[in-house]
Amino acid sequence: MIEIKEINGETLDENYRFRVFLKMHADEKTLDRQFKQLHNKYFKDFDCTKCRNCCKVLGISMNEDELNTICKQYHLDVHKLKNEVLNEKYGEYVARPCPFLNKDNSCKIDECLPKSCQDYPYTNKKERLFSLLTIVNNSKICPVVYNILEDLKEVYNFRRR
Ligand code: SF4
Ligand code: SF4
Repeated sequence: MIEIKEINGETLDENYRFRVFLKMHADEKTLDRQFKQLHNKYFKDFDCTKCRNCCKVLGISMNEDELNTICKQYHLDVHKLKNEVLNEKYGEYVARPCPFLNKDNSCKIDECLPKSCQDYPYTNKKERLFSLLTIVNNSKICPVVYNILEDLKEVYNFRRR
């Protein structure tokens, strides 16, 4: 079992400095490969139901098609959800915290998750060099992102002050 450190909020400034360091020193493709390896290393064992920070802090975001699919699959009233639970923003339906998160941290709609839930925290995607600000912001929320950045600091011999 891989050891996973708890998020230390005091490293946030350091993480923003590390972002600048990576922008200056990292190669795009190498960094993508390193992110992907570390993403797989941590998510292989990590049980997200023990965390659910992203569902609580960032909530859910889905497009109209995804919303309709979820409502159809789970026999939910789409108009009621739109009127009473969700906010619409640039064609996306959002709610924070996520209304589909159960008290026991299970997800009510885990059989048809919107893409944003499936993809979060995006650390296995391409072009991470250009998304480092989002990644550093996510290091406040997601313990896996936090641990990936801690490992990358070792890989790059980043000097912590
Ligand atoms: S739908 Fe499920 S995975 Fe997505 S934010 Fe809500 S509780 Fe989390
Ligand atoms: S914040 Fe990260 S570790 Fe926690 S539930 Fe979300 S993806 Fe999983």
